[in-house]
Amino acid sequence: MIKPDAVANGHIGAILNDIIAGGFKIVAMKYIQLNEETAGNFYGVHRERPFYGELVRFMTSGPIVAAILEKENAVEDFRTLIGATDPSKAVEGTIRNKYAKSIDANAVHGSDSDENAAIEGNFFFSMFERF
Ligand code: ATP
Ligand code: MG
Repeated sequence: MIKPDAVANGHIGAILNDIIAGGFKIVAMKYIQLNEETAGNFYGVHRERPFYGELVRFMTSGPIVAAILEKENAVEDFRTLIGATDPSKAVEGTIRNKYAKSIDANAVHGSDSDENAAIEGNFFFSMFERF
């Protein structure tokens, strides 16, 4: 996902450029806004964490770009491309280093395992929306 901060700050194009230059194929993509229910479902794993309320409030604050990306070793390579959760700790040149402002407004989301990537892809896309 390209999160609401990066969308609002005009970084959709630049981030997609970095993703494509990084060797990822875009299998599916859509521009939508989450609501409390859909964001709550998406971030259900974080429900008990102290920042959960803030996370849902932020993720519903504006539209996002959701995408399924395909690449050999995609989960790990995407996390390398985006950088650390806290952008002040993200390596120079990573997406969060370039486009994120804070640990909550951190520009992008990446799946943390192949299993969760499949679950998250199914959350956003039907089989007719994948190419
Ligand atoms: P993401 O899942 O969005 O790719 P991540 O895997 O790097 O990020 P997670 O630990 O899964 O980090 O946390 C999910 C999201 O919750 C983070 O991207 C961030 O927006 C928010 N978050 C994580 N830790 C904090 C924190 N300490 N304070 C505020 N928000 C946080
Ligand atoms: Mg995560």
